[in-house]
Amino acid sequence: MTFRDSLIKDPRLTLLVCFACCAAFGIVPFAAWRLWQGQVLVGLIEIVLVAGFLSALWVGWRHKHLHLVSYLAVAFITTGCILLAPMIGRVGLFWGYAILVANLLLTDRKFGFLANLVLIAFMMSFGELFATGFERLSFVVTALLVTVYAYWFAIMTDVQRERLEALATFDELTSAGNRRLMEMELNELFSRPSHAGLPHAIAVLDLDHFKSVNDRYGHHAGDKVLKRLVQLVQRTLRRQDRLYRIGGEEFVLLFPHAGRAGLEAALDRLQAYLGPRLSSPGGPVTASIGGALLEDGDEHWSTWLARADAALYESKDAGRARVCIAGTAAPTSAEGAADLLDASPPEDTITLQHAG
Ligand code: GH3
Ligand code: MG
Ligand code: MG
Repeated sequence: MTFRDSLIKDPRLTLLVCFACCAAFGIVPFAAWRLWQGQVLVGLIEIVLVAGFLSALWVGWRHKHLHLVSYLAVAFITTGCILLAPMIGRVGLFWGYAILVANLLLTDRKFGFLANLVLIAFMMSFGELFATGFERLSFVVTALLVTVYAYWFAIMTDVQRERLEALATFDELTSAGNRRLMEMELNELFSRPSHAGLPHAIAVLDLDHFKSVNDRYGHHAGDKVLKRLVQLVQRTLRRQDRLYRIGGEEFVLLFPHAGRAGLEAALDRLQAYLGPRLSSPGGPVTASIGGALLEDGDEHWSTWLARADAALYESKDAGRARVCIAGTAAPTSAEGAADLLDASPPEDTITLQHAG
């Protein structure tokens, strides 16, 4: 991923880069001026702070340790301000306010809050920064107000970001993952070099004759069936399995690290579980499922998903309310074998009858 792509996707990196730019353009001219004026130590400390932060940001991005960089940034600028304030005098107070805000936006709120308390305590202790006791008290009160306000702002930003992320990745009606999340997670799976060596399975589930549930009992009743379906499916999944709603009454299930036997067992279990539990006011609602295993030749997940989709159509064509798995292997479970349909399945597909 290029730096530009990471910048678009990662709000933490955007904040850190924004801060780095502000630091570079805001501090370096002052540092140069101080060097020019002969305040070599102050100028050097400022340049080391900016250079250290920029290098940490670069290394952090390359090695995916941005979290650590954000902690370092806060530690850097807080320590820098504490070191410089006695040297630059009252001007240090102005920088202090900028740092109080930055600390709470750059990193974990609690760490930023703690850093602010440390900064305020040190600044308070530098007697030469304040002409009177009243000035010192005013600094403490205003610095605490800025901290509380920035803390509240940081909470609100996090809450809104989480809400936006949920809206962008989860289906509002059922709370299953949405198509976007599925694409992101499948892209991620395919970007790992190890994906090719491991068995992974996928399945597409579609409710049978769902349109008639809506037509007869209304959209609200249909929505309730969809919600119930997701609750039931989630109960049968392992912790690492994923469920996405990719269309009206169409869902995708991802079974990481599952081979053929695992996929067959999972889908049979799912059908058996849904059978007696999923219903509309008009009676039981059934689902057809198509499954497929990841194959060596799958360069992109879309071909894998297309095989599961084709298997779903085999299920529908064979009479619905059943599981079909793309591939040529024999049925895995004795129960599955006993339940084989009379209608002969297509050559590359095994068909297990609905277990419910
Ligand atoms: P099949 O067995 O061939 O899958 O038949 P079907 O009736 O399930 O398939 P079809 O694709 O004809 O109908 C899908 C229906 O799903 C159409 C629409 O009324 C319903 N649907 C899609 N999205 C929603 C939704 O969010 N809520 C509700 N209640 N119904 C939905
Ligand atoms: Mg349907
Ligand atoms: Mg459909």
